[in-house]
Amino acid sequence: MATDPNYSFYEDVNQFVDKAAKHTEHPAGLIQQIKSCNSIYKFNFPIKMEDGTYQVLEGYRVQHSQHKQPTKGGIRFAETVNEDEVKALAALMTYKCALANVPFGGAKGGVRINVRNYSVDMLEKITRRYTSELIRKNFIGPAIDVPAPDYGTGAREMAWIADTYSTFNPGQVNSNGCVTGKPLTQSGVRGRTEATGMGLMFGLRQAVSYKEDMDELGLTTGLEGKRVIVQGFGNVGYYSAKALQDEGALIIGIAEYEGGVYDENGLDVEDLFRHRRETKSILNYKNAKNVENSNELLEYECDILVPAALENQITGENAPRIKAKIVGEGANGPVTPDAENILLEKGVMVIPDMYLNSGGVTVSYFEWLKNLSRVSFGKMDKRWEEMNNLRMVQAIEQATNTTLSENIRKTLVRGADERDLVMSGLEETMVNSYQHVRDMLKRKNLKSMRTAAMIVAINRIAISYLDLGIFP
Ligand code: GLU
Repeated sequence: MATDPNYSFYEDVNQFVDKAAKHTEHPAGLIQQIKSCNSIYKFNFPIKMEDGTYQVLEGYRVQHSQHKQPTKGGIRFAETVNEDEVKALAALMTYKCALANVPFGGAKGGVRINVRNYSVDMLEKITRRYTSELIRKNFIGPAIDVPAPDYGTGAREMAWIADTYSTFNPGQVNSNGCVTGKPLTQSGVRGRTEATGMGLMFGLRQAVSYKEDMDELGLTTGLEGKRVIVQGFGNVGYYSAKALQDEGALIIGIAEYEGGVYDENGLDVEDLFRHRRETKSILNYKNAKNVENSNELLEYECDILVPAALENQITGENAPRIKAKIVGEGANGPVTPDAENILLEKGVMVIPDMYLNSGGVTVSYFEWLKNLSRVSFGKMDKRWEEMNNLRMVQAIEQATNTTLSENIRKTLVRGADERDLVMSGLEETMVNSYQHVRDMLKRKNLKSMRTAAMIVAINRIAISYLDLGIFP
């Protein structure tokens, strides 16, 4: 999507807040405080390239709100990174955490680079240097500000961040909690890699479970058979598509920057992922049709469209041509305020980012808790639970004079491991938040689910300030 030079993502986010604030009675000053970015750290740092030349890179970390601490949010490596983008993303983190009910303020960071132009060694150098800049200004720490992956970064970068941080903080017992999204071997948590995609699936599954809501859209309930188009085949896009496919949805289109592929009979997500890894392109996949200009794929007929790449993808320009019945925001800010109005007018259900992609930060919260407690989930009680289950099974077998098959017995006896507990906590969070948003939507008789979600978030943040007695 060509970017308008006057486009401000941060202004878009603030417009969404203002729209929601009108439905509350909070004083204007309080809304002003909620919207403001509390601390903005911009820095330039030099790196020596492999050919001996130097480059000066632009880095950011924005802490939007400290109403809860630490602050939390990803680190983006992308050419789109600028102050406006990082502020918008940090603000979204605040609202997202409030809605998911995880006790963090919002933050975000970024380095303005195209990762494709750097070797792994150079990316390590950049990540470690970026981390040192954060340490220098006290912008990172398990109780201060906790980064995580975002567009262009992943578990590998998080491991470098944790390692750099602990090198500078010897003896700090909780140092691994300075960042989340780490590999399992570096104190990560099971389920974090796929968390945003799984959360998105739980969220959509919840949204399509209400018959009266689906009747309005002319859809049946359930994910089974729903035709889905996904924009983006990175962490969020890939795991969302996979999780939706596992629930019986048909992934008919996937759009990436090199183009898109479309198959009305459904693509095999894992096989397509393997194809892309091998051929370095999503195009020319089996019988699928190539869509050279992948933006066009967003306008194809489908039940659910999941923009899971970057912000500003569905705008006032292309919104009138969107044919999806549901737009589920996997990325942060993919739909502009203008576009949302157009979609809502057309009767499209827009499920907002601050809800639908909150699975990532939710599981980040579990990882942070694991790091602070220094014990994996399930370690203390898995065996105890299994022993109790076994006793129960044996008692039932005795009382009813039956013997269960080995398979049933195994399923009944099995105690929860770390992944089970993480997924259970994630599903619980997504289902609860949806309920809160839907209740607000009904109570205020709103069209926009984003406005409803924002009201829930603002109310929760407002309470922190009001309880401090800062505002009347
Ligand atoms: N970058 C992710 C997001 O935008 C995850 C943030 C986190 O886990 O802290 O929600």
